[in-house]
This record gives sequence, structure tokens and C-alpha cells, in this order.
Amino acid sequence: MTEKTVKTGKPGKKQNITKAANDRMHRERDGADRRTDKKTGGKFDGQMNEKMNNRPVRANNTTAWKKAEGRRMDPEGKAGTGSRPDRKPDGRPGQKRDEFVCSSDRKRKENFGTGSKKQGLFCPADKKCGGCRYLRISYEEQLKLKREQVAKLLKPYCKVSPVVGMEQPLHYRNKVHAVFDRTRDGKIISGIYQEGTHKVIPVDNCLIENEKADAIIRDIRGMLKSFKIKTYDEDTGYGLLRHVLVRVGHKTGQIMVVLVLGSPILPSKNNFVRALRELHPEITTIIINVNNRQTSMVLGDKESVIYGKGYIEDELCGYTFRISSKSFYQVNSVQTELLYRKAVELAGLTGKERVIDAYCGIGTIGIVTSSQAGEVISVELNKDAVRDAVRNAARNGIKNVSFYQNDAGDFLTGMAEDGEKADVVFMDPPRQGSSEEFLSSVIALAPKRIVYISCNPESLARDLKYLTAHGYRAQGAWPYDMFPFTEEIETVCCLSR
Ligand code: SAH
Repeated sequence: MTEKTVKTGKPGKKQNITKAANDRMHRERDGADRRTDKKTGGKFDGQMNEKMNNRPVRANNTTAWKKAEGRRMDPEGKAGTGSRPDRKPDGRPGQKRDEFVCSSDRKRKENFGTGSKKQGLFCPADKKCGGCRYLRISYEEQLKLKREQVAKLLKPYCKVSPVVGMEQPLHYRNKVHAVFDRTRDGKIISGIYQEGTHKVIPVDNCLIENEKADAIIRDIRGMLKSFKIKTYDEDTGYGLLRHVLVRVGHKTGQIMVVLVLGSPILPSKNNFVRALRELHPEITTIIINVNNRQTSMVLGDKESVIYGKGYIEDELCGYTFRISSKSFYQVNSVQTELLYRKAVELAGLTGKERVIDAYCGIGTIGIVTSSQAGEVISVELNKDAVRDAVRNAARNGIKNVSFYQNDAGDFLTGMAEDGEKADVVFMDPPRQGSSEEFLSSVIALAPKRIVYISCNPESLARDLKYLTAHGYRAQGAWPYDMFPFTEEIETVCCLSR
């Protein structure tokens, strides 16, 4: 396996995904979308999930990972036959990067309080949104609380380092979603669902969302009347515009706008594109996504690109990644870079190892690691993300990464049953953590190290219990604040035999 390939678990024959894998996909969350999820009272689900339902993506046999080689995807994404920043240390001599994060660096003091527990940030949607539960707590205190939370859960297994926080913890979200509605007196509003309801709370500026994205959403709202575009009514199915999703490339500045419509036709489409781009020439692609179902999921299956390439690119750790509308991409690019660098460091690679990147999304961790590994085997369930991953490897000239579209548990079971081994396993599962099937297969593959990236310390603790009961020892845990002002926390944990 020395070239970029995509292998599904399914050469030829169609087969539905197992109930277990399907359930797992339905529980899928990333920490950031959980915030959205909270806002919608658990209504917002991983957007690709329903779609995945219909796709034969896995094999039912134990050699799925090998048999799949018959079905390749070339770097153009066609199936052969048949989906941290330049953070400046505060300069204290002798201090390692991870050690100063809880200190009150000057910038943070100026902007977010002086270590007193309260701070003065105000958001009009605060209580109704439910996203920023730590809004009234100083940033230092937030980091302290998050560390305590992780330390409490991981206490039986390892030490937990101070949380790596942000110097500028506002407006970090590179993905912004707004739902559109109309008030009783006919005024068009855009914003978020009130927590636990389907009532829309207007939001003009969100403290944690990218500001350009918010401006684009406001301007789209302002254009609707003159274009005679009605907002969609979830109860009656009448109207057109349901949601707007904006994704911003942190380093590249490229911007994707997804207009989620109740039916496929956008009146005066070309004029709309022209008018929007006049206001925001920085928009690089505009997509119509059709979601005409009675569902609380944001994105539907059908898409058409009405401007640009249909995806954006961004840079992480010196590599370029393309991101399409339905692929997972970490919402806080600044912290992601730091997190990935730590994950690669913890893997302790020498250039020879056989590495697995499980739950690889658009291929980021495997690609960032590839220059320090012998070979990387990456597995991911979402077809769109795998397609992005294949192109990302090609785009970055990487030849030692293979991609498999499959359920990670089934895939690793196949490898384990074939007696395969691995030197290092990176795993970055969704919120619910990994399955026992996956974990037992990791143990059979007997890697020297497991680098576990988690957006949910509770499922991390549960999985650590299993791994440590089967011969692995947790070396330590390093939390990264990917979601300032929310209760969420990302942690990387390293285990060895
Ligand atoms: N490592 C990537 C993605 C992490 S998010 C990154 O850092 O960007 C978790 C990923 O797991 C998502 O891309 C999701 O589509 C995928 N996923 C969810 N359930 C899965 C399963 N059962 N098997 C394989 N991948 C799965």
C-alpha cells in the first residue's frame, strides 16, 4: 500500500451498513456541533448520517480491509469501477509551551479579566442559546474548570496537564450555521434555535463565531426581501430558505456559503450570486443544498454548486486541505494546529512505522504525520470526507497514505483477524468514543503507542478503562481548549504497552 487509494469494504455487491454501525453514525457528534446540538435541543445531528444510511460502505467479512483493495479511488476521486497557530509563547524563560497556558498572559488579562472569577462579556442570546455556559467566567477560570473536569475523570489512569488555552478566545468558530425564520409580524430573522425548542432566537453577532461569517449571514438576510425569497416554515413546508452555513478557511480566507433550501430552485440565482459577491467578494464558493424533509438535520443529500469550486481549502501544519460542505473539519483552526502537533509528538515516530489514522475525516492527522511514518492507513466512514482525504493526499504530494471508507471498528477487526500489526494507532472518534470491537482490535494489532484524541472526556475515560485493563498504560493527557466559553474540552492522551 504505497499509493493514495480509497478502498471501500465492498467490491461489487451492494450491502447495507449494519445496524450497529448505523447507530454509531447517528450518535456522531463533534464537540462543536454539540454546541449547536444543545441549542436545538438535540435536534442537530451529524449531517451526513442519514445519507450514509443508504450507502454500502462496509464488508461483512473479516478481510474487508484487504478485499476492498479491488475498489480504488484515484486522486480525482472517481471510483475505479463502480465519499496551531503561530501562537507566541509569552516568553518566560525556560517555560515550555504547555506550561504557561494557565498563566495570566498580558493579552488575556487585558481582554478577559485579571483572574477574578467573573468577567464582563455580554451576549443578548446568552440564556436562550445555551452554548456559552462559561460566558460569565473569566477565561483563566474556564481553563481551570476544564482541567479539573478532565483530571477528575482521568484520575485513575494518568496525570492531566494544564489546558492549552487561546490568546484570543473569541470568534474562533470557522463554521457558522444560522436558521432562518419570520416573526409573527413578518420580520425576517436569522439565528439559532432556543435551547430545547424549535423557536428561532435572532443572532446578529456571536462572540465565538467568525465575524465575516456572521456579516455574510446578516447580508443574506437583508437581500431576501428584494429577491422575494421567503423563509421556510418547518410546520407547513412553505417557503424556501431554511438555513445558511458558512465555512471560512482560517489561513486561506476562502469562504463557502451553503444555502439550504426547501426546494431546488433559487429564483434569480445568478443575480443573487452577483449581489452577494458584490457585498462579499471574499466568498469563493456558493452551494445550494436541498433539504425538503421534515428533519432537524441541517443539510440534505442533494447539492448543486452555483459559484466557485464547491469546496474551500485551508492550511494546517503546513499542509493544504480541501473541505467540502459535509466533511468534518475541526471548528477551531488555531487550536487544531497545536493539538495535531502534540499528537504527532506523542506518537514518537522515527520514519519507519506503520501508522493507523482511525476516524480520519478529510485525512488531516495521517497527512500531517506521513513524513515521519513508513506508511499510514486511514479509515473513515463518511464518503465525502474520504473523497476529500484522497484529494488532500494528492494535493500535498503524499504517497504513503491509503484511505479506506469503512466503519473503523469493522475495518480494524478485519486487520486483526488477518494477523496484521501496527506500530502506532491514532484514534479520533466522535463524541460517543469507540466501540469495544474497535478497542479489542487495536489491542490485537498491538501498537507500541496509541494516541487518542477525544472531544468528550467521559467517553475517553471509559475507553481508557478498557485499554488499561488490556495491557496499556496511559502516559498522560493534554487538554486543548477548542471551544472557549462552552463547557467542551478536547484532550489528547498517549498510551503505551
Ligand atoms: N480526525 C479527523 C476527524 C475527527 S471527527 C479530524 O481531526 O478532522 C470524527 C470522524 O469520525 C468524523 O469524520 C466522522 O465522520 C467519523 N466517523 C464517525 N463514526 C465512524 C465510524 N463508525 N467509523 C469510521 N469513522 C467514523
